[in-house]
Amino acid sequence: MTHRVRLLVTVALFIGFATVVQDRHTVAAQTAPASGGAVAPSVLEDLAAAYRILAMEGVIDAYGHVSVRHPGNPNRFLMSRSLGPALVTPADIMEYDLDSTPVDPRGRNSVLERFIHGEIYKARPDVMVVVHSHAPSVIPFSVTQVPLRPVFHMATFLYTGVPIWDSRSVNDPMAQTLLVRNNLIGKSLAAALGNKEVALLRGHGNVVVGPNLQVTVRDAIYTEINAKLLLAALSLGGPITYISPEEGMAVEKNPGDTQRGWDLWKRKAYGQ
Ligand SMILES: [Zn+2]
Repeated sequence: MTHRVRLLVTVALFIGFATVVQDRHTVAAQTAPASGGAVAPSVLEDLAAAYRILAMEGVIDAYGHVSVRHPGNPNRFLMSRSLGPALVTPADIMEYDLDSTPVDPRGRNSVLERFIHGEIYKARPDVMVVVHSHAPSVIPFSVTQVPLRPVFHMATFLYTGVPIWDSRSVNDPMAQTLLVRNNLIGKSLAAALGNKEVALLRGHGNVVVGPNLQVTVRDAIYTEINAKLLLAALSLGGPITYISPEEGMAVEKNPGDTQRGWDLWKRKAYGQ
């Protein structure tokens, strides 16, 4: 091989190698979505606190989760890796795109039902926080004809109505497991939620959505408490005087101090 031919072969091999490397990068870029950017530590701390508060208040147990939309990119959201909610720390928070694909999994397991979050964020630009729980007192209202309506002042937000989503409405064999295991099932749930704040998942649990962690965590807690109180009222028998839509609207215009509850719950959740 002459010097000139050897040089040409070397150049050809280099170009071939560079193309392979470039292709690999392209594939990697397609499979792993780009990050929405760095997030302030306080966002991660508050999200970890939300997990612990919801666990402490009996809304989520070993399962259930809460997410926040990425503050710097509306097409990303943040939620914990698959971990018992009472154990979540800021280091456990992962980032996802709205197809619920992790940005940088690094071997960490994602929760099975993350598609609930991604599909609700897609459908509801106004929603900044999503809570999914199997809060036990709410379940009876997902399997009977008795609607979940507000009976006390901390749950007036339920006045607009609480739709029930049934996994059997989805034409996907995976929906038979009751869990929201893919985007198709998540999209169906998001459609059932519509413009409401709370939706029930038949024989499974509920979702609560809202504008920030303080309000949404509080409303998830009071959805469970309202269900308990309504079950008690129903057991007494006779007609029930529900919170009226007019009262619900009046409270909406004059919201209480959400920060007070949040500060207390956060301190308690960390044993302070
Ligand atoms: Zn679930």
